[in-house]
Amino acid sequence: MNTYDVVVIGAGYAGLTATRHLLKANKNVLLLEARDRVGGRVFTQNLDSGTYVDLGGAWIGPTQDHIYALAREFGVETFPTYDTGKSTQYFRDKIKRYGGLIPPLPIGALLSLDAAIKRMNKLAKSINLAAPWQSPNANYWDAMTLASWMHQQMSFQTARDFFKVAAEAIWAADPADISMLHALFYVKSAGSLELLMNIKGGAQEERIVGGAQTIANKMAATFADKICFNSPVKTILQEGDGVKIIAKEKEYGAKKVIVAIPPTLAGRIDYQPIMPANRDSLTQRMPMGSVWKTYAIYDKPFWRDAGLNALAATPSGYITVTFDNSPKDGSKGILMGFVLGNQAKAFSELSAAQRRQEALAAFTTFFGKKAQNPVQYLDHSWATEEWSRGCYAGVMPPGVWTSVGKTLRAPVGHIHWAGTETAEVWNGYIEGAVRSGERVAKEILECLA
Ligand SMILES: Cc1cc2nc3c(=O)[nH]c(=O)nc-3n(C[C@H](O)[C@H](O)[C@H](O)COP(=O)(O)OP(=O)(O)OC[C@H]3O[C@@H](n4cnc5c(N)ncnc54)[C@H](O)[C@@H]3O)c2cc1C
Repeated sequence: MNTYDVVVIGAGYAGLTATRHLLKANKNVLLLEARDRVGGRVFTQNLDSGTYVDLGGAWIGPTQDHIYALAREFGVETFPTYDTGKSTQYFRDKIKRYGGLIPPLPIGALLSLDAAIKRMNKLAKSINLAAPWQSPNANYWDAMTLASWMHQQMSFQTARDFFKVAAEAIWAADPADISMLHALFYVKSAGSLELLMNIKGGAQEERIVGGAQTIANKMAATFADKICFNSPVKTILQEGDGVKIIAKEKEYGAKKVIVAIPPTLAGRIDYQPIMPANRDSLTQRMPMGSVWKTYAIYDKPFWRDAGLNALAATPSGYITVTFDNSPKDGSKGILMGFVLGNQAKAFSELSAAQRRQEALAAFTTFFGKKAQNPVQYLDHSWATEEWSRGCYAGVMPPGVWTSVGKTLRAPVGHIHWAGTETAEVWNGYIEGAVRSGERVAKEILECLA
């Protein structure tokens, strides 16, 4: 049995970052990855047409300093998300085009929506990021879903409908499935609702030339001999002053192990001795969100000639939000449509042909007949990926933060936890994953000192 100072499980941005930092500190490290690639929930697919799409995480934006630092360090270029021209709103069977950030809604609904955004930002300020369960009125907020708060806060159905579109785009989950305390934590973790929602000045501001997996690939290339692919970890045994890890019938010994995978997957590992009750309860109660990305590829971004930015929002149908995901040079036109939350679950029940038909019908409604016949259509769900089981991230339903939330990051013996779900800042994002990797490496180095 080979032995190491640290075995890291999961070669997503969290596990890669942790491995890199531990190697820099001259530790003997092995990174075990279930898939045959690095990047985890960030996966860039190269297409025959010579371009690429990000099937998972794609955008980065202001205040995500740690991923920007990695991009700079590895010489990876970023570019602004295309947002020149008018946005599109499809509501009650009508298309409306509008400039700026304010959607053309009836004034009552608009004021109600604006008040809700301001209120949520204000409430989020009071959240204790390190210990959300210790925030003022934590039990009150954690007993409520985001959906029930939306009902309390907004009397206009239209305001609630559009708030839901934004909430689903942020969490990839239905507001009825999200604890209000978690929603507030998430807003504080990013900085504000605007940072979460916006292109300019927000999380969707920029994309990565070559795709978001590029940085992960380059980082991994600096320690390729330390990564073992196709090695799903099934068992972790804590014995004496170390751990034994079993992956693909092979055994590895280590002083410490880092589990850098989403909580629901961490809960599927067999621990001996078994996890403390509250930690086990947490991993039973933190499901992943649901999202499909749908892509239509065209010879050129035809909507740009019509003065449109390809940003559409609608509270009806499967696809509720779209973006221009063309490459930096605009050599191809790529529309990306999100199918989110409960719509994603319903979309999963359609055949591939039905999904294509629904997606292209939506693109045609939003952007006209030219959208009907793309050169290529593809879509992707993460729910059926064995090593993700949903996306973007694990979401806390009511009652979890305040009962067992403190077990999210707390080490159990020699087992330490990382992954975007454990991040205090930019939780749920690539930035959060990177920061969690840095945090856990520091934690381990302190233990090994
Ligand atoms: C559709 C979609 C859109 C998104 N959009 C954005 C975006 O635009 N911007 C953004 O910042 N974030 C976005 N995200 C979220 C972002 O991708 C994630 O927050 C981030 O990639 C998580 O990184 P991680 O390292 O924490 O986890 P992961 O990337 O999930 O890495 C975990 C790794 O562990 C491996 N693994 C799992 N179980 C085992 C096991 N038992 N043994 C060994 N290996 C195992 C997995 O294969 C995986 O490689 C999006 C995600 C998705 C899916």
